[in-house]
Amino acid sequence: MEIIRSVEKVKNQCSDLIKQDKQIGFVATMGFFHEGHLNLMTQAKKENDIVVASIFVNPLQFGPNEDYENYPRDEEHDILLAKQTGVDILFIPTVREMYPNQMLIRMSVEARTDVLCGRSRPGHFDGVITVLTKLFHIIQPNRTYFGLKDAQQVAVVDALIISLNFPIELIGIETIREQDGLAKSSRNVHLNNEERNEAVWIYKALMKGQQLVVDGEKNPAIVVNEVKNVLREHTSGTIDYVELVSYPRLTPIIAINEQVILATAVKFRKARLIDNLLLNENGEIVNQYLQEGI
Ligand code: AMP
Repeated sequence: MEIIRSVEKVKNQCSDLIKQDKQIGFVATMGFFHEGHLNLMTQAKKENDIVVASIFVNPLQFGPNEDYENYPRDEEHDILLAKQTGVDILFIPTVREMYPNQMLIRMSVEARTDVLCGRSRPGHFDGVITVLTKLFHIIQPNRTYFGLKDAQQVAVVDALIISLNFPIELIGIETIREQDGLAKSSRNVHLNNEERNEAVWIYKALMKGQQLVVDGEKNPAIVVNEVKNVLREHTSGTIDYVELVSYPRLTPIIAINEQVILATAVKFRKARLIDNLLLNENGEIVNQYLQEGI
């Protein structure tokens, strides 16, 4: 595995690979790898000749009172895990390398961000699409892999790729969970023991909501209420949101008659955790997202 820190170098390397007709699969991350990240890389390895992964904690996507400074980092361990997982090129730029000058262009997402994390984290997805546009241009992948743990991000990347005609296939991969159901997240290290025990109820609450849909409930408000009640009863965290909207467009719905997302964010003392379930109209869990267009 080659570790590259320079934009110029990774760009040249990827261009050379493309000239050799190699298919490139790309996984963008903020590091502190766990099985969720590694599973994306494994999937990329299966479907491409070359896997490029990036580690970059992108300051543009963090709000002023968010955890940019405290975001967990462990580059040495990440390098080891990436190597073991079969990554060919690990791109680890500094902030200065990615943003050497003041940005002269501001990108903003016009849809799919007025709900869920987009509403509670203003500017977050603008930062995400800005860095991804740069990374897509630098690496020029054939395919890019994102986790459905961040399903709104997948919907926004889908919009980015389609709106700006990136010749890239987007693949959304299922959420990898701990044994008890808690979605794996780099931020889980910031939970104390008590919070860690409570955090499993995020998943359990979503599953209770899902069961209602399976049992025939069509009213999104009733499902959302059930999830909120379970969360209030079993966690000390503050509910940021619980929402049920269409997916991938993320528009409000009156009745559950299409693919939807049931999503929540809960704030603990030092970690804000998100989780979601993608459901078809019968309430069955959907574990993959293939780009379908706007
Ligand atoms: P991050 O480093 O948190 O920006 O995540 C990098 C990529 O890994 C994103 O596409 C995430 O959606 C994905 N990811 C993070 N956690 C999980 C998980 N538990 N299961 C699946 N994918 C995940």
